[in-house]
Amino acid sequence: MKLHTLGFPRIGADRELKFALEDYWQGRISKQELLQTTADIRRQNWAIQQQAGIELLPVGDFANYDHVLNTSLYLGIIPRRFSQDSSDKLDLEFRIARGRAPSGCACAASDMTKWFNTNYHYIVPELRESLDIKVDIQPLLEQIEEARRLGHESKPVLLGPLSYLYLSAFEGDKLQLLEQLLSGYQQIFEQLNSARVGWLQIDEPILGLELDTDWQEAFRNAYGALRQGSLKLLLTSYFASIDHHLDLIASLPLHGVHLDCVAEPTDIQLAIDTLPRHWIVSLGVIDGRNIWKSDLSALYHKLEPVYAQLNGRTWLAPSCSLLHCPVDVEPENKLEPKIKSWLAFARQKCHELSLLKQALLSGDTTEIEQYSAPVKARLTSSEAVNNALREKLTNIKQLQRAEPYAVRKQKQQVLALPQLPTTTIGSFPQTTAIRRLRAAYKRRELSAEEYTRAMQQQIKDCIALQETIGLDVLVHGEPERNDMVEYFADFLDGVTTTRFGWVQSYGSRCVKPPVIYGDITRNQPMTTNWLSYAQSLTDKPVKGMLTGPVTILCWSFVRDDLSREQVARQIALAVSDEVEDLIDSGITIIQIDEPAIREGMPVKQSQWPHYLDWAVASFRLACAKAPGGVQIHSHMCYSEFNDILDAIIALDADVLTVETSRSNMVLLDAFKHKAYPNDIGPGVYDIHSPNVPDIAWITGLLKKALDVVPAERLWVNPDCGLKTRGWQETQAALVNMVSAAKQLRAQLT
Ligand code: GLN
Ligand code: ZN
Repeated sequence: MKLHTLGFPRIGADRELKFALEDYWQGRISKQELLQTTADIRRQNWAIQQQAGIELLPVGDFANYDHVLNTSLYLGIIPRRFSQDSSDKLDLEFRIARGRAPSGCACAASDMTKWFNTNYHYIVPELRESLDIKVDIQPLLEQIEEARRLGHESKPVLLGPLSYLYLSAFEGDKLQLLEQLLSGYQQIFEQLNSARVGWLQIDEPILGLELDTDWQEAFRNAYGALRQGSLKLLLTSYFASIDHHLDLIASLPLHGVHLDCVAEPTDIQLAIDTLPRHWIVSLGVIDGRNIWKSDLSALYHKLEPVYAQLNGRTWLAPSCSLLHCPVDVEPENKLEPKIKSWLAFARQKCHELSLLKQALLSGDTTEIEQYSAPVKARLTSSEAVNNALREKLTNIKQLQRAEPYAVRKQKQQVLALPQLPTTTIGSFPQTTAIRRLRAAYKRRELSAEEYTRAMQQQIKDCIALQETIGLDVLVHGEPERNDMVEYFADFLDGVTTTRFGWVQSYGSRCVKPPVIYGDITRNQPMTTNWLSYAQSLTDKPVKGMLTGPVTILCWSFVRDDLSREQVARQIALAVSDEVEDLIDSGITIIQIDEPAIREGMPVKQSQWPHYLDWAVASFRLACAKAPGGVQIHSHMCYSEFNDILDAIIALDADVLTVETSRSNMVLLDAFKHKAYPNDIGPGVYDIHSPNVPDIAWITGLLKKALDVVPAERLWVNPDCGLKTRGWQETQAALVNMVSAAKQLRAQLT
């Protein structure tokens, strides 16, 4: 039996990668220093894993920016607009990922999109008819050498050709490109052979999807065509079960398969019966994406018969790469000890594997019984059973708003908004000064009153600015929020936050997901004091700003003893309490952000309808108590809507603001076929760039929008929140946006 991992967090235990990258990009450290840091992180990662008992260490799981981008670079596939770029490989890598200049210019960054149903973003490869493959895996070979020099037994990791192709952008039939792509993979295989690589982990996570016959055929052809030499292929997939593709997989020339046994129920017996008798079966039994300690004694009893049957062919691993998990729970010194005793981060998960192995080899379960005691305690603890809440949830009478949109729209005339109303998405620039204030308050260097006064000043400035600009629906600017989920987590019972539980979101950006460990209730109003203060400063409506239940769920580590659907309902009830309080304090417009609805979709399409049903229901529950005259907005920041259009419509928000400017309003094409029935604000400029859009550009986009959305239902707003922008460019952009709206209004009347 061998213990291995599919990958380890790249950011480093103290986010060393983040800081080194940002220092390098700002010119504060040299390339040499950056590379030294990345080598240190790899060395550290291997050491942590090895000390915890992992025997076969991943190499090539590290990335300076992203592993899909790494694959593109191995193959020499770079967007054409960078082909003249003479900078060295590392700088080119960062330019593809981050753009060299404001987007819109010829050297815009490549698109980034979510990695399956995680909050990790990968850089989307841009493919064209002729791929011009130029293989260069020098960085991978060097890392293989690095690991060897340190005396490690290692297993290189490579994203497989079919998943790479599937995740790429190409206008046309992607499978046409497979042959070219395979010539690249063939060269990679040859170079790995020359480097005397044994096991190669080849990731094909798209096997979790319900692939159509063309793609299944492509798997057969591709793996049949690749000459492996002396490589031993371990095919891995994760985030879903692959029971449905076992026959296909069994027909491929492989040496082993890894199964994610956590994401969905997986039929291990079926795998043993279907896969060839000589293959390694790697069982991903430790949850690689969540932070709960495993119930090792339960696992032991499940695995014991399997282990006996496989007769030496068993490997054990976390279910997926540990990339989606923080590094080490040990330094968490502010967590309630009981909660801490329930948690295992990446390092602890490796240790769990070795405990499990010891027990399986020796038959002695004393140690794992001891280890599992807190897990059992968690599952039966009082936090987990809040009967009053459970009862409340089963007895909810009002699951959605009482009146239909048409009636609400009439009632909302009292808001007296002009045609093409202008608004923003919520946050205004978060300056260093604002961040310092929050940090000082957290460290108790500021009293509650001092902090409140300082934040009120920020809100006051923000309202004054919006009035000067002439926006119609104002926001308070969100200066008090470090993060749109963590802020709310702090007010919710049953949820806690960690100090160091960082997870990479993309490049140098990390997030610190809250931990949902028990039943969720709101312990006090969360936003009303800031909002009622803001509203007291102006006659214009100030939009209350909340994060929706699905987004809070998706961006947290969620308890595993209750369905996600049930947890979402609990959060929805807490949000609904806040909606009521906001309305009581005089707020007439409330936005409930749901940017994560799309990424929460299960890997298998057949499971989408069920997910979307409960996701939509939880949103509707959150706003059910808003009377018709109160206007509910929602916001989402992506534009791939087509496949979930019905669900978006079913949310039944009065106003939906969405990202579209980068895609030049292509989103609206979807509405040509099926009209969006309520008000909609397709973003008119890209807030990810410091560019100030001019008036003509904005009116141009709005006119396009008017082709599909009637003027009575069209809103004017940016793509997303403004927190990452500076004040100057924000003001200039909003001034132009308001002018554009006014010009069009004049033309319309
Ligand atoms: N209201 C949030 C903001 O403006 C929305 C952020 C988001 O869409 N991710 O920052
Ligand atoms: Zn957004």
